[in-house]
Amino acid sequence: MKSIKVRNPRTGEHDYEFNAASTDDVALVIAQARDAQRAWNALGLEHRTKALGEWAAQLEANGKQIVDALSVDTARRRISEEELGAVIHFIHGFCDAAPEVLATPFRKLDAHPDVVFKVTYSPYPVVGVISPWNFPLVLSFIDAIPALVAGAAVVIKPSEVTPRFVEPLKRSLDAVPALKGIVNLVQGAAETGAAIVAQSDAVVFTGSVPTGQKIAAAAAQAFVPAFLELGGKDAAVVLEGSDVKRAATSILRSALYNSGQVCYAIERVYAHDSLYDALVAELMTQAQTLKRSHAAGDGGHYGPMIFGQQASIIDAQLDDALAKGAKIVLGGRSETVNGAVWIDPTIVTDVTHEMTLMTDETFGPVVPVMRFSTADEAERLMNDSMFGLSGAVFGPDTHTAGDFATKMEAGGVSINDTELPRVMMFAGEKTAFKKSGMGGSRYGATSIMRYVRKRALLANEGPVPPLEKLAEV
Ligand code: NAD
Repeated sequence: MKSIKVRNPRTGEHDYEFNAASTDDVALVIAQARDAQRAWNALGLEHRTKALGEWAAQLEANGKQIVDALSVDTARRRISEEELGAVIHFIHGFCDAAPEVLATPFRKLDAHPDVVFKVTYSPYPVVGVISPWNFPLVLSFIDAIPALVAGAAVVIKPSEVTPRFVEPLKRSLDAVPALKGIVNLVQGAAETGAAIVAQSDAVVFTGSVPTGQKIAAAAAQAFVPAFLELGGKDAAVVLEGSDVKRAATSILRSALYNSGQVCYAIERVYAHDSLYDALVAELMTQAQTLKRSHAAGDGGHYGPMIFGQQASIIDAQLDDALAKGAKIVLGGRSETVNGAVWIDPTIVTDVTHEMTLMTDETFGPVVPVMRFSTADEAERLMNDSMFGLSGAVFGPDTHTAGDFATKMEAGGVSINDTELPRVMMFAGEKTAFKKSGMGGSRYGATSIMRYVRKRALLANEGPVPPLEKLAEV
């Protein structure tokens, strides 16, 4: 059995260890899940939502241990509490929406008045879920919950970088017997993930583009659908006439939340000539007010980097930018203090698209700002990216910014703010453009439909067509 050691982001020490599930272990879990799923689906929606509601109550009552474990792995307290709250919210939201989404009334067929039909839904028996380290709990369940509501069993592999929440989470599941064999968590790294992809009936993956490409290829080989939620390089465009203070606050909030370790963080800013200097000054002024948080929950604004190796990628991007003429006007390269790796809010000017800082995912608290003179130039720059997750447009009013926003090749565009798709969750849909992902929307209650096959049942209530019809050939 392969043992994996886990680094504590506050101390740099490897103070936790777990055994990775082998391919055979995964095969056993998936076989049991496949068996259990038949009864889960047969329970019907009402009983499934009741069981999920019981689990939500467990999470509410006994979530502290989960939050404690998450706080160690991610070095943050408040966001860990938010993660738990979000999972409870997803359970209630998807359960409430499901009766309407999964309703299957009989209907008449206009073209054939004797024929009535309905479309019934058959869940994929086992949905494999593979998640990353930046929001370990939320991203393990944001897709698992609609799959469970649809009647599937799930086999979830959280990131090997942040696995401590798994044990307390399993205890919360043990308290709900109906979920036994239905919600399964297996631990491991790439090999365990690959075993899940090879054996599941559908796969949802959240993570980087290179891993997503491997998973898409493996899913094609296994001939199962793969829903991919991948990286981003979100742009913010600040048009002439924008409110500079507002734009700076919104951009910093998005770029620095969770130390920039967010797929939809603003990672590049394009500012009109008329306000470029003012925006850079305002970004610097506001960013300077933010403080390190020296212990989870101590009230600072940002913690150390969760995954130490990410800091090397960010340092390399900053070095590349400096070598090509960029200027770091605030912050800079990573600093290791007592084992913790810190990157302070960093603002970079004089950047170009020749620099990896402007083309590759950074996943850190870095805000590069580039100037533009015309709307055409801004449009070309914001769309000059292999990513298309989301973005933001600031302008003098909703109409002007909104018009420009329709040109952005991205699945969600916030207008005169950032990160607005977050508040949309059940209300609307959005899909990733370009290499930021593939498959139907994870947002919106209809994401439940990603996990079902559709079976049309048609009944002829009139006479059957006579055999003479054959003679018409
Ligand atoms: P990663 O791609 O390195 O790993 C993600 C998961 O895939 C981990 O659980 C890992 O063990 C597993 N894995 C690795 N190789 C595998 C393989 N061959 N087969 C099956 N599983 C395999 O990503 P990461 O570094 O953990 O997370 C950061 C990335 O996630 C960033 O690119 C970020 O933008 C992206 N992300 C995207 C979203 C989104 O919703 N679009 C949300 C959060 C993070």
